[in-house]
Amino acid sequence: MKNILLLTTGGTISSRPTEEGLAPAGDKDPILSYLPTLKRVYNITVKGILNLDSSNIQPEEWQLIARSIYSEVKNYDGIVVSHGTDTMAYTASMVTYMLLGVPIPVVFTGAQLPIEHPLSDGIDNLRTAFAMAASGKKGVFLAFNRKIMLGCRSVKTHTTDFGAFDSVNYPLVGVVNGGGLSLEERFIPNISHEFALRDSLCRKVFLLKLTPGLDPAIFDMLMDMDYKGLVIEAFGSGGLHFIRRNLIEKLHAASQRGMAVVVNSQCLYESSNFALYQTGQKALEEGAIQSYDMTTEAAITKLMWALGNCQHLYGVRDIFSKNLAGEINEHM
Ligand code: ASP
Repeated sequence: MKNILLLTTGGTISSRPTEEGLAPAGDKDPILSYLPTLKRVYNITVKGILNLDSSNIQPEEWQLIARSIYSEVKNYDGIVVSHGTDTMAYTASMVTYMLLGVPIPVVFTGAQLPIEHPLSDGIDNLRTAFAMAASGKKGVFLAFNRKIMLGCRSVKTHTTDFGAFDSVNYPLVGVVNGGGLSLEERFIPNISHEFALRDSLCRKVFLLKLTPGLDPAIFDMLMDMDYKGLVIEAFGSGGLHFIRRNLIEKLHAASQRGMAVVVNSQCLYESSNFALYQTGQKALEEGAIQSYDMTTEAAITKLMWALGNCQHLYGVRDIFSKNLAGEINEHM
C-alpha cells in the first residue's frame, strides 16, 4: 500500500455550521470520520496544520504549508492537502514555485459542501486526490470534481457548482471515469529544477484591474505605499488608456522607482499579447513584463516569489521569461 500524508488546513470540507455561519471544525476535523474506506487502499497519516477558512490563508500560511510538505516529502509516496476552495488556486500556484522539482505528487483538494453534508462532494474529491497522490507523478496538482489539473493552471470559476475549478489555458492532466484514474502523461511537465525549499516571497505586490478612465494617481498611491510589484489586468489582448488619463506615463515613473510591473489580460482564456496594439506596445516600451497566458493567480504568486528570490529587476524579468512548471506557454 502507498503511504499518503493528508495535511488538513480547514475550508468548507472540514467545516460545520456555527451561529456565525460555516467554520472549520478544528480538533475533531470531520474529515477523519470519512477516511476508513480510503484506509483500506492506502496507509494514511493525517496532520492538521491549519484550521482556517481559506480567505484567511495568506503568504505566511503559504510558507507554512510549503515547509510542512517539504519536511515530509521523503517519508511519503504522495501528499494530499485539504484546503478551502476560495484561495486554493493561489496556494497551489505559490506552492508550485516554492517546491519546484518536488519528487512526489502533492495534490490540493477541498469541497463545495462540508464533508458531513449528505450530498457533499468532499468524499469524491478526496478519493480523486488520493488516487493522484498515489500515482507517482511528480508535481503540484489540484483535484476536484473527478478532474486533475496543474496547481498553477487552476482557477476557481464557480461559487457553488461542484465543477468549481477550471484548468485555464492548459489541458486537464487527468480524469476519473469508468476506467479509473486516467492520466494524460504528456501534459505533466517534466521539471528539471533540483528540489529545494524556496519559500522567500515579497508581500508588497498589488493586483490592479483596469476600468475605463481609471485615475492614474492610483500608481502614486502604490509607490507611496512602497509596493515592489504590480500585476495589471489590462483590456483584451493588452491595452491601457493614455489619452486624458495617461497610465503609460505612470508606468514610466513606476519603472524608474524599480517597481516590477507585470501585465496580463482581464480575459480569462487565451493569451495576452501587448505587442499587438499601440496601447500595449507603449506599455512594453516602459518596461512592462508580459505574462501571456498565465492565470492571474499564477502571475501574482510568481511575482511575489520572484521578488522574494531576486535582488534585481532583471532577475524578475528572467524568471518571467521561463516556464517553471507549466504555468506559461513558453512558445508565446
Ligand atoms: N470559504 C471556504 C474556504 O475557502 C469555501 C470553500 O472551502 O469552499 O475556506
